[in-house]
Amino acid sequence: MGGKMAKILSKEEWRKRRRRKKYAMLTLGVSLVMIILILLTVAVFWLFKGRLGGNVPENETLVKPLPGGATVQVDYLTPNPYSRPQLELKRVKSVVVHYTANPETSAKNNRSYFEGLAMKHTTYASSHYIIGLEGEIIQCLPLTEQSYASNNRNGDTISIECCHPDATGKFNEATYNALVNLTAGLCMEFNLKKEDIIRHYDVNGKKCPLYFVEHEDEWEAFKKKVMDTVKNSRDNTK
Ligand SMILES: [Zn+2]
Repeated sequence: MGGKMAKILSKEEWRKRRRRKKYAMLTLGVSLVMIILILLTVAVFWLFKGRLGGNVPENETLVKPLPGGATVQVDYLTPNPYSRPQLELKRVKSVVVHYTANPETSAKNNRSYFEGLAMKHTTYASSHYIIGLEGEIIQCLPLTEQSYASNNRNGDTISIECCHPDATGKFNEATYNALVNLTAGLCMEFNLKKEDIIRHYDVNGKKCPLYFVEHEDEWEAFKKKVMDTVKNSRDNTK
């Protein structure tokens, strides 16, 4: 009799076990589907985010030649926390124009100043490009890295420092023309529009670049010239 009871019980046990197994499989299936759905959502989000965030720099330097035959000397700063922290530049939404606020200094002088900050340990500053008084352009940082130039916009901008002959901060013709051509080249590379060309002033109200802050009409004229240069370059390559 005891044996019979045991048989009946074990049948029930089996049924229970089968039911439990069924539920376990069902839970596993549902979990797998959920995980796949979450992964898909994350993947789609990242793709979309990349597209929304502007262009990711693919190259350390501009690949296409600059308009007007302008040339760039590449002379990267030594990696250091004060001027070349090697933070990744994930997107480029704007180009920020600056002035050195140090009349008569050359592009080379200003590059040396940035390089020297590694030893000084007091100031954080740098720029992707410096344009000198003869229109020479020095690139201090790869375009894939962030500069320390534009406060809370370092993470999505390329910075250009410009030298100037006197305290008015007005750029001479050589510097101005190089700035037009370099900015145009960056606009073409990163698909930027007129409103994406900004002053340091537009980031945090700092009077930089001084002359373009005090002469709004000249700033507008500069941006128009950049856009005309972009249009002419595109027409020429068609
Ligand atoms: Zn500035």
